[in-house]
Amino acid sequence: MKNRFKTFISNDIGIDLGTANTLVHVAGAGVVVSEPSVVAVNQKTGQVVAVGAAAKDMLGRTPGHIVAVRPLVDGVISDFEVTEEMLAYLTRKSEEGRKKWLGPRVVVGVPSGITNVERRAVRDAARSAGAREVYIVEEPMAAAIGIGLPIHEPAGNMVVDIGGGTTDVAVISLGGIVHSRNIRIAGDKLNSDIMSYLRNEFKILIGEKTAEDIKINIGNLTPGDAPLEMPVRGRDLITGLPREVVVTDADVREAIGLSIDTLIDSIKEVIEITPPEVVSDIMYRGIYLVGGGALLRGFRELLEEALKIPIHIADDPLTAVVRGTGIILTDIESFEDALIKNEDDLPYTN
Ligand code: ADP
Ligand code: MG
Repeated sequence: MKNRFKTFISNDIGIDLGTANTLVHVAGAGVVVSEPSVVAVNQKTGQVVAVGAAAKDMLGRTPGHIVAVRPLVDGVISDFEVTEEMLAYLTRKSEEGRKKWLGPRVVVGVPSGITNVERRAVRDAARSAGAREVYIVEEPMAAAIGIGLPIHEPAGNMVVDIGGGTTDVAVISLGGIVHSRNIRIAGDKLNSDIMSYLRNEFKILIGEKTAEDIKINIGNLTPGDAPLEMPVRGRDLITGLPREVVVTDADVREAIGLSIDTLIDSIKEVIEITPPEVVSDIMYRGIYLVGGGALLRGFRELLEEALKIPIHIADDPLTAVVRGTGIILTDIESFEDALIKNEDDLPYTN
């Protein structure tokens, strides 16, 4: 009864503020928003013209004074005002038809490398968007909760969240993060690797969207029996005219190989600084992959081979973080250790 009364007077909103995608979970309704993290701003008036998918469609084809801005670049907040607009838009959108007496309680997932000042900005932004209470959680922690790992137990759990701008690696035990690392190699870097490779090897220019399509359609880190290939149209570097080439999974492997190796090395480094008892838990339980990059074909097998630890791809890896924020809201007290405390946020210096 008590809970029903609570949901009657106020919403609970969980937000995954990702570098590539922003998702919102509303208690009782599930994931209600899943949009690219892009905001289109009119530079003449300073006004936000579009948010999410609508803004992403404008990328690269807007008149000069309308610019598409990503609130988070490389896992850090690149533009505070735009972040605030994005949060305000999401809060409004998730309250549609569900407007309650009190402002919502909001849990926001942020990249693990975020600074105090940035955290404070997220908190302030959510407040000015109408939130009554704001809680901040690091994304790998939210993901661990979202996929149902036993984070409260005195046993090590390891989560690798491969997003757009960053990969978060975290070791969690007893409800808190033991170690975490934020690596700037993730989906976007792989896309730009593919763009450079096609420019160098095929002498054609392709856009970011095409590079991402190539990665998703034919990317495969452990070569299968049947090679994958895809015709790709780009602009010839010399003639400036359109030209079509056929790209294979072997091309993609070559293009992204170096970044993947660096990523694997960074994950190894986190394991190396983790206490032996915790490592032995992880060896037994395995490492959980979340985020869109977890879907890269063959990555699981490659990681398993390189680390000699079982690797699991979480179900629905793109929504793990936001589902976690939703679960946290069902019982804030019991997740207290998992949240970043208010007093951890430094005040602005001026
Ligand atoms: P973030 O949390 O940073 O917003 P996401 O977890 O939403 O990022 O993941 C977005 C990234 O996942 C993008 O770089 C996208 O290209 C990549 N991605 C999505 N689906 C796939 C797939 N099937 N194979 C490889 N990469 C994918
Ligand atoms: Mg993410």
